Amino acid sequence: MNISLLKRLLKVPTFTGTEVLMIEWLMNYFQARHDCTAHQDWRGNVYVTKGVADTYPCVCAHTDTVHRPTKVIILEERGKLFAMDWEGKMVGCGGDDKAGIYLCLQMLEQLPALKAAFFVSEETGCHGSRNCSEEWFRDVGYVMEFDSPCDDILTFTCDGTQLFPVQGPFFEAAYPQFQKFGAMNWQHHPFTDVSVLKRKFNFPCLNLPAGYFRMHRTEEYVVPSAVENSLQLGLELVKALRQERYVFAPVDAQDEVMTPVPVSYLNTHDFGCPRVERSLQEK
Ligand SMILES: [Zn+2]
Repeated sequence: MNISLLKRLLKVPTFTGTEVLMIEWLMNYFQARHDCTAHQDWRGNVYVTKGVADTYPCVCAHTDTVHRPTKVIILEERGKLFAMDWEGKMVGCGGDDKAGIYLCLQMLEQLPALKAAFFVSEETGCHGSRNCSEEWFRDVGYVMEFDSPCDDILTFTCDGTQLFPVQGPFFEAAYPQFQKFGAMNWQHHPFTDVSVLKRKFNFPCLNLPAGYFRMHRTEEYVVPSAVENSLQLGLELVKALRQERYVFAPVDAQDEVMTPVPVSYLNTHDFGCPRVERSLQEK
């Protein structure tokens, strides 16, 4: 795993509405690579294409965080990454969603053909994805966002919209990967970019765990081993789903079909992850 890249990203200050440093960081990163093309729209959404395909798998993440931008030091302690300001006070590291950005970069690194979208201003209502380029998504077969907390939480419905079908070829290819990598804690979440994309487009979407914990709090941290698990999950999903186009018309949560695993209703402000926190305490 490229831990120095993850730490570098965690140090980039970015806040909803002032994502300019993160956008600049991404544009510089892609400019230095010669295997991707990147451009940004007037809102600051960044779109990246790698390779040539008729239909692309697509990954996405958001470039804003809820934490006020400040210079930070990243500390590594017992398998967790934290952020501290220059006065020694703990501040939120913005793993939500810088860990998601890291995952998209690693997916681009490892796959020959992939699209990636980095949206601004998700935290205040998905303003970037609401105004995304519809033309750019024309040759996308399915979208995977890395913006679910912890290491096992998968979004089933988001903002009242079911993200993916629970039968048919997409589900049959994806489900064994969820099982293999333990992403079996399916939940209903308030919103993220894929709920907006799912309503706009006819492809299925996934929101996968990004390995950040205690989101939106000063004690937020990232677990590199959880991030790595999500990377392997993402890579295996693309291997299983291939460069195919899948169709899944938007479904309201009221029409929700029976899921093969229990879906828990959660407090949107408390994504507790007892399993991981227990295993880290045992270290
Ligand atoms: Zn997020």
